[in-house]
Amino acid sequence: MDAALKTRALRAGDELEGAPAQEILGWAVEEFGPKLVVAASMAEAVLVDMLARIRSDIPVVFVDTGYHFAETIGTRDAVAATYDVPLISARPQLTVVGQDAVHGRDLFRTDPDLCCRMRKVIPLDRALAPYRAWAAGSRRAESASRANLRVVDWDARRGKVKIHPLAAWTEADVDRYVAEHNVIVNPLLSDGYDSVGCAPCTQRGAGRAGRWVGSTKTECGIH
Ligand code: SF4
Repeated sequence: MDAALKTRALRAGDELEGAPAQEILGWAVEEFGPKLVVAASMAEAVLVDMLARIRSDIPVVFVDTGYHFAETIGTRDAVAATYDVPLISARPQLTVVGQDAVHGRDLFRTDPDLCCRMRKVIPLDRALAPYRAWAAGSRRAESASRANLRVVDWDARRGKVKIHPLAAWTEADVDRYVAEHNVIVNPLLSDGYDSVGCAPCTQRGAGRAGRWVGSTKTECGIH
């Protein structure tokens, strides 16, 4: 464990609390340069847009589980065509067909934690491995489990700094930024989905209420 890096992260989290999102992301870009990567779920491209206005060589990673809605893949492709930032699609080792063959059909029903681990957590871990810090668009207002997000935190499992520039943003803040900067938005958001995940595990609903409906699962293990 890099104790000095952890101390830096926690101190920055205290100092940057209340700062504008652009300043928090700008700090991360300045501090880590090419050792920073930004994760994007492709619900909307707010963080990518913000990043592209600061610097164009910081990569963006999207976890392509093989189970995404066509609209999400379309959003990823539109982001790749629009922004001059390197976009990495992190993919699982097994295709969906391969996973069905090894673990049985529709693992997302029989063992969603294993499915998330193989299709989200491990691919993201691999993609993040070369970097010292990663940023994500998670917000406190999204769910109770995210209510205490720090703007800069220590990701103990991965031994990396984790930055949440949008932690304090409300839905209205996101909408305002999207309108002001003409940001690409996943069409699912105007079709009743507040949160965009894999198609088999996502229904229409407010906040993250449409994710893993009918189970106690609320997070995939990435965050
Ligand atoms: S969200 Fe559902 S389909 Fe996607 S990886 Fe997790 S369990 Fe599998």
